[in-house]
Amino acid sequence: MEGEAILDLSVLRLGHRVDRDKRMTSHLGLTARAFGANRVILSGDNDKTPLETWKSVTARFGGDFECRYESKPMSWLKSFSKSGGKIVHLTMYGKPWNESICDIPQNGDIVIVVGGTKVPGELFGIADYNVAIGNQPHSEVAALAVFLNTYLGPVDAENFAGGEVSVLPSEDGKILLTNDDR
Ligand code: SAM
Repeated sequence: MEGEAILDLSVLRLGHRVDRDKRMTSHLGLTARAFGANRVILSGDNDKTPLETWKSVTARFGGDFECRYESKPMSWLKSFSKSGGKIVHLTMYGKPWNESICDIPQNGDIVIVVGGTKVPGELFGIADYNVAIGNQPHSEVAALAVFLNTYLGPVDAENFAGGEVSVLPSEDGKILLTNDDR
């Protein structure tokens, strides 16, 4: 019997700047988690703040989301590619996502790369897919959310098991269930 096709999905934040990008990078990782990625990898300035935010949100709201810092992202990408992983680079200069997304495999090791500062030109060459969410400049958080929602579809609540709390969807206000309530 053939095994189930497993997707292992990382998001690489290229070129984080501690003085400018704290909130944007934190939100990027939270968006990666909420929309179904397995991990976020931080590169650029080695800033503990976003890593702490991602860990504490995962402990509180559940799931197996991972995060770590990578000091040599371009070398890491090259060895990721060499070992069979596929690189998706989100860029306003790429091909429209709604045309190219169906070519991207739904299994194996995939990394989605999003920039902060200007990305190195060689990234376009090593990426397997240069994908645009529209060909206008906007936000890496918006680009990632639209991409992940199209690529993975809605994320199951079971993805976020094991946390201290979970949200009970409600039209009447904020309802948080703690582990004791469940
Ligand atoms: N300031 C940087 C520069 O001068 O090149 C780019 C800033 S841009 C907000 C940061 C990242 O957002 C880009 O590297 C890209 O990953 C993502 N991004 C922005 N607009 C995009 C679009 N239309 N499609 C896909 N990704 C986009």
